[in-house]
Amino acid sequence: MLEIIATAWLLLLFGDFFSTFAYHVPEHVFGSLHLKTHHSAKKDFRHYAILMLNYQVLLDGFLGALPYLLVAILLWSFSPVGVICGLLLGQFHVWWRHTNIMGWQTPKFIVFWCQILSITTPEQHWLHHQKTNTGFGDIFTFFDLPAKVWLRWLRLLRMYFRSSLVFLK
Ligand SMILES: [Zn+2]
Ligand SMILES: [Zn+2]
Repeated sequence: MLEIIATAWLLLLFGDFFSTFAYHVPEHVFGSLHLKTHHSAKKDFRHYAILMLNYQVLLDGFLGALPYLLVAILLWSFSPVGVICGLLLGQFHVWWRHTNIMGWQTPKFIVFWCQILSITTPEQHWLHHQKTNTGFGDIFTFFDLPAKVWLRWLRLLRMYFRSSLVFLK
């Protein structure tokens, strides 16, 4: 039982880590797909929860989920049940964290436990939709601060590349 819980937790932890630092934040700086699809205003729950057959929405969802799948392969030999539980919990969290758009509010006792366990609530994730510079860490809130630092570094890197490109011209 402990093995199942540990594997599921590790999958979500490393999945969120790689998804945030290798896809989500770099995509905010260098890309446009995520900003165009996930941060577009006035979409419905199905759009944000990746429950619709739209090529760009599905691609953004797939690229965000890819790190979880790679971690799942690595952890499979430890506990297949734990991996499946982790993936299901991750998918459930995708749906749950977008329920704000339907006007749902998270009950106070759940918010309390999420704060203790550093789990991103729908309210916190909604902040990220409105202000793209904050509320990183799709599942765990402790990734927010290092993600902001990573965002600033990547922006500096982008500035450096752009200025060196201008210099070369
Ligand atoms: Zn979202
Ligand atoms: Zn984003």
